[in-house]
Amino acid sequence: MAALGKSAEEGAADALKRQLAELGGAEVLLQAILDSASDCILVLSPEGTILLSGRALPRASSTSLLRTSIYEHIAPETREAARSCVERVVRSGAPDSCECAIRGEHGHVALYEARVSPILRGGRVATLLMICADVTERRATEAALRRSEERYRSVIAALDEGIVLQDASGAIQACNASAERILGLTSAEMAGRESRDPRWSAVHEDGSPFNGDLHPAIVTLRTGAPQKNVIMGVHRPEGEMAWISINSQPLLRAGEALPYAVVASFHDITERKRSEEELRRSEERFRATFNQAAVGIGQASVEGRWLRLNERFCDLVGYSHAEMTDLTFQQITYPPDLPADIENLRRILSGEVQTASQEKRYVRKGGEPVWVKVTVSLVRHASGAPAYFIVIAEDITDRKHVEETRQEFLTIASHELKTPLTPVMLRVQALLRMYRRAGGPPPTAEEVIPKLEAVEALLGRLHRLVEELLDISQITAAPMTVTPEEVDLSALLRDILHGHAALLRRAACPVTVDAPSALLGQWDPVRIEQIITNLLSNASKYGGGKPVDVALAASGDMARLTVRDRGIGIAAADHERIFRCFQRATTSRHYSGFGLGLWIVREAAEAMGGAVRVESRLGEGARFTVELPRARRHASP
Ligand code: ADP
Repeated sequence: MAALGKSAEEGAADALKRQLAELGGAEVLLQAILDSASDCILVLSPEGTILLSGRALPRASSTSLLRTSIYEHIAPETREAARSCVERVVRSGAPDSCECAIRGEHGHVALYEARVSPILRGGRVATLLMICADVTERRATEAALRRSEERYRSVIAALDEGIVLQDASGAIQACNASAERILGLTSAEMAGRESRDPRWSAVHEDGSPFNGDLHPAIVTLRTGAPQKNVIMGVHRPEGEMAWISINSQPLLRAGEALPYAVVASFHDITERKRSEEELRRSEERFRATFNQAAVGIGQASVEGRWLRLNERFCDLVGYSHAEMTDLTFQQITYPPDLPADIENLRRILSGEVQTASQEKRYVRKGGEPVWVKVTVSLVRHASGAPAYFIVIAEDITDRKHVEETRQEFLTIASHELKTPLTPVMLRVQALLRMYRRAGGPPPTAEEVIPKLEAVEALLGRLHRLVEELLDISQITAAPMTVTPEEVDLSALLRDILHGHAALLRRAACPVTVDAPSALLGQWDPVRIEQIITNLLSNASKYGGGKPVDVALAASGDMARLTVRDRGIGIAAADHERIFRCFQRATTSRHYSGFGLGLWIVREAAEAMGGAVRVESRLGEGARFTVELPRARRHASP
């Protein structure tokens, strides 16, 4: 077979040579062409024997290749691929190609891309033309490129930043895993999606819609300019919002002004936004607490200069914010209270105490002092150095007032209770002396009665005082109770006036009464008596020596009682105050009393669903009007 095959190959070579010879010297020409071609050109028999060769393969000179099998020169790893390529061409008659590695003399391997074409004779493949192009370098470059691309690909895949490649139309071509994670979409879902796609539901930081044409990638595609740190909120498919900060970079071909693609890179700032939002909310909450607090809150430097104050603090001291920042706490502190203040601050600064509280007075802008409870604490820097004081000031004017009033009340009470007792004692002692008069006649009724009347009046006053004290202890312990029953107010008024006749006489107050013969309603007679008694005793006390008019009338479903005197009167500024507990508009030196009578009147009237009011001017007498519903209508406790 080998001998036969060889002779067949020789025959083919000879035939080829003959053909060339017919071309007249063309063999030489052909060899020259083959040799000068940049690729190595071989003519093979269908079995792979080299019949003609041009430029040498790296292994041998062209002459030494002749009559050798092409497969001898091909490295084993590509030999079979080459053989099957040649066989395919022989079988099909169609050109084909393969890659052959040919090991050189010094062991280096050259890579060839072999294109095999059939040369037909008589309808069958007689010989084959194999053109081998050296692709060693190209393949090496391709491999290097592939490696470099792989490196970049793995760097991009490993990046925490989302990377998206968009083509000239803005459609997404590729993305990395971080982009999928941040946007909550797979790369398949993103592929082809444009920045203008409404499904992004992109928004600006203020919540307004983000116009897709202004997306940084689109701007870069339109202008060729990179964009930096554009903040955008996009809705993830699950609904929650992802906040991203986007940069975009154009991809430009040499000589072209506009990019053929754009790379958008972005990082997830959702967490940052969330903490910013949380911080903003907490600041808002703090600011609201600071501004709306019912107590004054201020920050003062270590030297005492006001740095920041809430509205309430400014109200408390009567200065505006601007005025306060020009002042120090020392300047607004009531001078006698300053030493204690400074001592407290010293203890805080030295670390002896964390906070210090003190009751002191500030001086308001107008000059009047205002009582405050001040609590001071110190904020320090991380280094421990003092930063500023936090001052909380609570207005305690009312409490101080109550304390003062209580003190005043105790003074008045002890005086008031003692005052009638001394004359009672004196009169009783005088009576005893009369009866013990040795040898003399017993005292006459004319001698005894005035003294007993005086004692009765004094005891009556004491009785009223004790009643008032009992009332106050009852009312302050629980809301005033009422037990309504059918009462004829006219009759009750007449009885009470009768009981007070002596009192009014002593006060030289002629009384006129204007009342219907009967006025029925549902009232508590005890409370009615308290109301009338207190109003009458005030009229005689503050309007002594002048007439007092008492009037009672029905007005619809109400009964109206007025007691009018012509005494010292009450200034308008005091009209509201005198109905409060312990509040008096006169001094105890002139008129005795606890400041409880009108308070009891109001409590009793309101407990029966009614009300009391005063009309008066200083020096012009006073008219007190009590209105009470006739039907049972209790104030809820
Ligand atoms: P008190 O008479 O014991 O002081 P009240 O509660 O009855 O207590 O009255 C409160 C204050 O109202 C009195 O101290 C007085 O200043 C004023 N007042 C009450 N009634 C009259 C009146 N008829 N005329 C003038 N002032 C009055």
